[in-house]
Amino acid sequence: MKTIHRFPNLAEAGFAQSLLEAAGIEATLTDDFAATSGPLLVGVHLSVQDTDAYRAWDILDRQGCLDSQSPAVAPEESAPAEHQEAPPVAQTKVLDITCPTCGTEWELTPAEASARSFTCDQCKSTFMIIDIMDIKDAWKTVEGFVYPDWRVIGEYIKLNYPLSEHSAIWRQASLQWVGAIRDALGSEYKIHQSENFVILTTKTPNNAKFLLNVCENALTKIRAILGALAWHWTNGKHVVLMFEDLELYYGYISHFYPDKGEFSGSGGIFIHRGYCHTALPPSRDAVPALIHELTHLSLVQLRIPLWLNEGLAMNTEDDVNGRNLIRLDKEMIALHEAHWNAETIQDFWSGKSFSQPDASKMSYSLAQILVENLQSDYPNLEDFIKEAKASDAGESSARQHLGVSLSVVASTFLGEGDWTPKPPHP
Ligand SMILES: [Zn+2]
Ligand SMILES: [Zn+2]
Repeated sequence: MKTIHRFPNLAEAGFAQSLLEAAGIEATLTDDFAATSGPLLVGVHLSVQDTDAYRAWDILDRQGCLDSQSPAVAPEESAPAEHQEAPPVAQTKVLDITCPTCGTEWELTPAEASARSFTCDQCKSTFMIIDIMDIKDAWKTVEGFVYPDWRVIGEYIKLNYPLSEHSAIWRQASLQWVGAIRDALGSEYKIHQSENFVILTTKTPNNAKFLLNVCENALTKIRAILGALAWHWTNGKHVVLMFEDLELYYGYISHFYPDKGEFSGSGGIFIHRGYCHTALPPSRDAVPALIHELTHLSLVQLRIPLWLNEGLAMNTEDDVNGRNLIRLDKEMIALHEAHWNAETIQDFWSGKSFSQPDASKMSYSLAQILVENLQSDYPNLEDFIKEAKASDAGESSARQHLGVSLSVVASTFLGEGDWTPKPPHP
């Protein structure tokens, strides 16, 4: 159970409780009269399940029932008490911070959290801190999930912190956000970290460590394969959210659907809006999806056409795993022959067919084949990839850097036909 708020009297708490019940959230009232051993408090607590906390807080906040800016924590110090003369109640923790020097974890009081810096008692180093939940208009909750507005947070960081602190501050900000998602998902979810990654998962610490190792190793390999094309991020670690419940997974990603994320064939999504991150549905083997999405992440700074992005992601996934998953038997060739024509190829170049249920499989397959052919026919694809634009499917870049039309590239597999991309693609 999570305490949402302390209300000054039973009537207000009862009203708040009825609002939550109308939204299907079970809230428990607990009065403080008997519960406190110290000075007598006048007030009523309202508690809900951990998983409902953020949604409940959001509902009450929108209804004007709350007077605090901090989500899902009882603002103990603000409890009005008519006949209270006693000293203020101990403050509730509001912020989790990890010392960047020695790694000690601290739970900051509201007073400490509102300061701009904090001195670690363990190693005596002083570092700057941020509380994203305290920044105006920086986040919202939808269906219990916290969705930060990273543009607002980015502006705030730019305005309030020196450049030298940005990397560390981004790291803190992203961890606070993952912490908020963990709180919404429940206590079985834990945060695990490595040098470049943060994973939120219900898996055992050993399992999580294995996945973090997979990520770190894959990243090294992907960067070796992509060379100068690979994006090296500096602000915050890459976040991977591993959902153990399919409904929660779809609930979370629906916020980004359909145009803000990419649904891969391997069952995960790389979200490139705001703070880039990866969300994975429950699966027995998350490794292929992780590597696939990691490749997208490494190409995120390039606005390349979807077919090229997917083809590169799949071939890189194969290279990292040391296998070749291009399935090209008689049956598959026949399916390709039957599917592609002057019309359907335009949906392939525009990227539309990748999300069409009947064409998706053929599109991923064709993307992988074309990229594989390109990689074997041209020793250096870097300039072509760098300048390939989604707006013309990469046609002008192909003509300039490869000296051929994509129509020629497509015909190496599809045979003669009218394969030229015809922009504008929506
Ligand atoms: Zn320290
Ligand atoms: Zn993909």
